[in-house]
Amino acid sequence: MSLDDILGRELAALDAQGLRRTLRLVGSPQGAVIDLDGRSVLNFSSNNYLGLAHHPALRVTSDQGVGAGASRLIVGNLRAHRDLENALAAFHGTDSALLFSTGYQANLGVLQALAGPDDVIHSDRLNHASIIDGCRLSGARVEVYAHADVDDLERRLATTPGRRRFVVTDTVFSMDGDRAPLREIRAACDRFDAYLVVDEAHATGVVGPGGRGVAADLDVRPDVHMATLGKALGTFGAYVTGSGTLVDFLANRARSFIFTTAPPPGLARAARAALAVAGGDEGDRLRDALRSRIAEIRRGLADRALLAPGAGTTPIFPILVGDERRALTATRALLARGIYAQAIRPPTVPPGTTRLRISVMATHSPEHIAALLAALDHDFRG
Ligand code: PMP
Repeated sequence: MSLDDILGRELAALDAQGLRRTLRLVGSPQGAVIDLDGRSVLNFSSNNYLGLAHHPALRVTSDQGVGAGASRLIVGNLRAHRDLENALAAFHGTDSALLFSTGYQANLGVLQALAGPDDVIHSDRLNHASIIDGCRLSGARVEVYAHADVDDLERRLATTPGRRRFVVTDTVFSMDGDRAPLREIRAACDRFDAYLVVDEAHATGVVGPGGRGVAADLDVRPDVHMATLGKALGTFGAYVTGSGTLVDFLANRARSFIFTTAPPPGLARAARAALAVAGGDEGDRLRDALRSRIAEIRRGLADRALLAPGAGTTPIFPILVGDERRALTATRALLARGIYAQAIRPPTVPPGTTRLRISVMATHSPEHIAALLAALDHDFRG
């Protein structure tokens, strides 16, 4: 049998389960209204929470050309990277920052570098796939605790000795929109001598003073703070902030940092411009607008008994469906009314928890939200 025959059968099996994925084509910038497969629709599926992905202030070029030409440790450590890292460290009030090409690589690199076979990583059941893969790559014993359940975490911390122990959590859960109980998790780490690693991918730019994230909002100090640039910051890439020693160690040990070409300098410049917007007055205005839209959706979903537990303070709203085919039908029906809300299926979410994931942007208008809610009235068969 040819390889294509084998793969074709596997794809057909995915199709039969309602789990096959297809790529839709966006022909416009990543805005509140997009051209999707040739049709103009309202976009409720993006992580571009502040609408910065096509903001004019981010359309900057670099005097260092396009390609970085090498990995950071060879000859690709450009001034544009260093400037961005300095700005990120200043933004978060830490000594240092280290840029990674993507959030996926950052999580792989951090966990692989910090933890090894003699160690234990305690990981929230709903953590992002990149954390799950980083845990696997580290070779550490992995203890998966019940979602946001500090009692379960403490029970496991009390009974799992290890050379070093880490607790790793998303601070805003990407597919549920709820926030980790970070104060309680920090206290558990302190009680049991564990190090706290946080992923602020969906919080940065959105939550906390100046958009500095959940840890800053709660005045919690993680040992390792990771965030991404491709969501509210509208560009691409990721970073870790912390002590100079941490950053130096990661630059020596994180394989996903060492063995990859440095990001394009123009991208680093654009990310620095995004940080200036997001951390400034305009960012505050955008966060105010975003908060208003979040409140409108929260009210609308609560009125319709569609508000998921824990959701409502971040731009992410899951509408639980359970069955994959029903979710795909709901997405298609909404699309026919000009609303795009992607169905999120396993393995992105646990089996049986397929959902529509609605995400809102500061650049949505109240009318856009009203259109979404009206479409849900017509079409959503929860
Ligand atoms: N962490 C979380 C919580 C995420 O949601 C994502 C992206 N979906 C990542 C990490 C990976 O970031 P990137 O897209 O930059 O690879």
